[in-house]
Amino acid sequence: MRRILVRLPNWLGDAMMARPLLASVRASFRDASITAVGPRTLLELLATDASWDEAMPWPLPAGGMGRLRSPRAFAALVLPPSFSSAWFAFRTGAALRAGFAHEGRSWLLTHAERRRARGDLHLSREYLALGRAVGAAEGAPPGPLAPTPAGRDEARALLGADTRPVAVLGPGATYGPAKRWSAERFAEVGRRFAARGWRVLACGAAAEAGACEEVARECGGESFAGRTSLEGLAAICAGAAAAVCNDSGLAHLAAAAGAPTVAVFGSTSSAWTAPLGARAAVAQRPPVCSPCFARTCRIGYRCLVAVSPDEVLAAVDRVAAPGGRVA
Ligand code: SF4
Repeated sequence: MRRILVRLPNWLGDAMMARPLLASVRASFRDASITAVGPRTLLELLATDASWDEAMPWPLPAGGMGRLRSPRAFAALVLPPSFSSAWFAFRTGAALRAGFAHEGRSWLLTHAERRRARGDLHLSREYLALGRAVGAAEGAPPGPLAPTPAGRDEARALLGADTRPVAVLGPGATYGPAKRWSAERFAEVGRRFAARGWRVLACGAAAEAGACEEVARECGGESFAGRTSLEGLAAICAGAAAAVCNDSGLAHLAAAAGAPTVAVFGSTSSAWTAPLGARAAVAQRPPVCSPCFARTCRIGYRCLVAVSPDEVLAAVDRVAAPGGRVA
């Protein structure tokens, strides 16, 4: 049986944008054995897509490289742009090695794909180009990411007996302030959701507790920062009435899980990294300086200030269906 290795992205948002590639590789090589290599949390989160036969955590466990080298893969897809990930693929001995030409690593790859300027092509399509390099044909986009059983259990325990529709707010973004819409505006959106009778949850990592607690306090919601695993968060999002997030991993997760999702973009390019999903939308009012991809801004964050709570709520209503929570 032919073997294919896929080195997944390390970041949550990138991993969600890799789902079309993973689905196309699975559909194109039904007879192959696919091994995914990536952070354990992402492997567990994406397990319900059934896009691979075997998962290997990264960093590799003892003996991991030996297991990846035998049997030798006919193709390795390298999604991270780092030198180390190309070196990893080279060491596996895979006959075909496809990845982005980057960081002086092209000599390690048999198919080094030149990237266009950021935003010329959505990142998911850049990933699909890597699949084409080894013979994978683009197929139908994947459906919503199904919650894992563990995620469902966690979400049920966290949400308890409260049956109100849930709204997820994601006011964090580790990238920097140029990706963060203000807490006041998130709180305004939260108050408007609460006025609809919705339960407002400000979600994020433990490091985002400050922003989540401020938003929750100002809109009468709850902070779930640091209280959820990715699987639990995905299950909450899968049943949410709406999600409003910065351009962050949470926005991608919510959109992939099927929540009506609006992502607020600041300094970055929505043409490159808009969340994927049938019910996902972007709120962005780019000034002439956009996208600058800066983490901080010297001219007053005009890109973020220009996005109003009213237009975010209008976008929510365009993509949202009524009510809902974890099944
Ligand atoms: S320079 Fe422009 S695009 Fe960049 S963060 Fe500032 S206002 Fe936004």
